[in-house]
Amino acid sequence: MHAEENSQSYHRVLTIATSDSGGGAGIQADLKTFSAMGCYGMSALAALTAQNTLEVRGIHSLPPDYVALQIDTVIEDLGVDAVKIGMLFNRGIIKAVAGRLEAHGIGRVVLDPVMVAQSGAKLIEDDAIEALKQFLFPLSTTITPNLPEAETLLGMPVEDRSQMEEAARSLLKYGSDTVLLKGGHFEEEQSLDCLALQEPDEAGQEVYWYEAGRIPTRNTHGTGCTLSSAIAAGLAKGEPLPEAVGHAKEYITGAIRAGSRYRIGGGGGPLHH
Ligand code: PLP
Repeated sequence: MHAEENSQSYHRVLTIATSDSGGGAGIQADLKTFSAMGCYGMSALAALTAQNTLEVRGIHSLPPDYVALQIDTVIEDLGVDAVKIGMLFNRGIIKAVAGRLEAHGIGRVVLDPVMVAQSGAKLIEDDAIEALKQFLFPLSTTITPNLPEAETLLGMPVEDRSQMEEAARSLLKYGSDTVLLKGGHFEEEQSLDCLALQEPDEAGQEVYWYEAGRIPTRNTHGTGCTLSSAIAAGLAKGEPLPEAVGHAKEYITGAIRAGSRYRIGGGGGPLHH
């Protein structure tokens, strides 16, 4: 059957992010996640990294205009149901992306405020963090900081679980509809995430908590990329955000478990999608 004769709809997700040449994180993880969740994945690259499981040896950013050109080119033909934003690296790219999201009136945006890799490499320029807050948080359905990212954004420590809800609510001041604060960096038996909403939803809830058992493995490279992509896939399918987060959490837990015993590379290995 020709494509034209197939009237089934396909849920389209665009990742605007950076290549991880090692394949575990970045746009490679995003595209694997979209496929695994039954969506059609597209990508607009912001930068390239020369990277393996041990280190990031180089970052090469693309001109902001060229990032914008990729976004326009795919959306004008293929259309898009949700966007995931990952590592954008610098202020110029962030401003260009914000401009294109506004121009296309994109309503479902999941933003992972990527700052530092698990290997310790810095993945964003210092002045770009302000630009994320100023230009992209207000356009986002949700932002998905981990604890170190939340601490950088708020300029204060988040030391235990009792401070998580307060921190998630504080981050709402930057204008995203919701904030998903990921508590995985606490070395506890359960990994706990907190979703804070600007307004109570139809169920009357302002906060949701998500819990999953911790899986002992060092293969967690790309978990942040994968979680935010899985949430975007859920949104593309029309799921309400709290439900999309729940499904994404199930997906990532399965992918960490499935990859937990592999030996790929000398450092923190990838998940298995
Ligand atoms: N490389 C790229 C291109 C990324 O986008 C990210 C995270 O978003 C990373 C590396 C870091 O991944 P991790 O901290 O899981 O090792």
